[in-house]
Amino acid sequence: MNNENKTIHEFDFNLICEYFSSIERQGPGSPEVTVKALSFIDNLTDKSRIADIGCGTGGQTMVLAQHAPGHITGVDIFSTFIDLFNQNATKLNLQDRVKGETGSMDNLSFQDEELDLIWSEGAIYNIGFVQGLNKWKRFLKPGGYLAVTEASWFTNKRPEEINNFWQEAYPEIDTIPNKISQMQNAGFIPVATFILPENCWTNHFYTPQISAQKIFLKKYVGNKMAEEFVAYQQHEAQLYYKYKEFYGYAFYIGRKL
Ligand code: SAH
Repeated sequence: MNNENKTIHEFDFNLICEYFSSIERQGPGSPEVTVKALSFIDNLTDKSRIADIGCGTGGQTMVLAQHAPGHITGVDIFSTFIDLFNQNATKLNLQDRVKGETGSMDNLSFQDEELDLIWSEGAIYNIGFVQGLNKWKRFLKPGGYLAVTEASWFTNKRPEEINNFWQEAYPEIDTIPNKISQMQNAGFIPVATFILPENCWTNHFYTPQISAQKIFLKKYVGNKMAEEFVAYQQHEAQLYYKYKEFYGYAFYIGRKL
């Protein structure tokens, strides 16, 4: 089967997990962008409770912890990522206020109105932006903040090739005004939105994958699934370089009414 016709959902979870464990981030982003998004949030104290949903190995969580007060719980469905997350927290001496837990974003174990801030970079798409906002909102205190990155179209029209790729990968991708409107309809005041700079995709996401792919392919030489998975990642990166003026991630920051 041609990998271009395959979606990421069809690859073995353990392979995906191993591949992404070897790189610092599992999605586009950067420390500068995390700090910028945080600058719009003004309610945090040492007593604040923060959740980072779909935290992966914690690239952005550790940056958040170094720039914000309070206690952070990272949640991810892959226990391997959570083990690495907790090791990273300990290495940075953040273990007293940064803890990773294995769990699913569609069944979170927080109390209603427990959280001051919900953070999620490159992960809400797993349950969909609208469903994520609606499901997570109850865990926020009134006036609490939500800050998420989400795949977004920058233009009203775009070439068919990239349109088809995203309709297959994540049909909920939409224009920025539509996403802001969805946020408002879910009961959030839209506080700020900005587009992530290209280096979040290139230097911080696709470039580190080049050496990771070499190591991975060497280990899984002859394994068709592994080879197809790497080919899929390469195809995704090529599409990004080709069509980056039409789409990317935007940070959406909202305050619960
Ligand atoms: N926030 C990290 C990881 C983004 S990749 C970063 O920006 O680097 C998306 C993450 O969502 C992965 O770590 C994946 O394991 C996690 N994930 C996927 N489905 C999930 C679910 N149902 N519940 C919780 N986490 C999930």
